[in-house]
Amino acid sequence: MKRLRIGDNVKILVGKDKGRTGDIVAFVKNKEYVIVKGVNMVTKFIKKGMMGEGKEGGKIKVEAPLHISNVQLICPSCKKSVRVRIIEKDGKRWRVCTKCGHLIDKDVGTSEKESKKTKTKKTTKKKSKI
Ligand SMILES: [Zn+2]
Repeated sequence: MKRLRIGDNVKILVGKDKGRTGDIVAFVKNKEYVIVKGVNMVTKFIKKGMMGEGKEGGKIKVEAPLHISNVQLICPSCKKSVRVRIIEKDGKRWRVCTKCGHLIDKDVGTSEKESKKTKTKKTTKKKSKI
């Protein structure tokens, strides 16, 4: 079950950036890892010409991926880094803050399938009414 999504504000739980926060900008490596903006920066060395014809080589800083178990979602309601539970409500999946019970949002990972299901349900209801 996907508990994190792009745009989530997360707290880093381990490593040199432990305690820092940032927004998830991408999922990588089979969605096991996330890239958090401005966090876990590493220096990469670029060979001359790698970035384009005639361009000098050098060092650039990029975000290194963090394993999803090493970050924790910050609840938009209680502003704490929390564990989330997934609950089903109104045929949708919601992420729920385990600390304050706030419904964070619909789980995007299953939204497509869920919306299709909901549509089918609705059509059936309409037909039965007629
Ligand atoms: Zn909360």
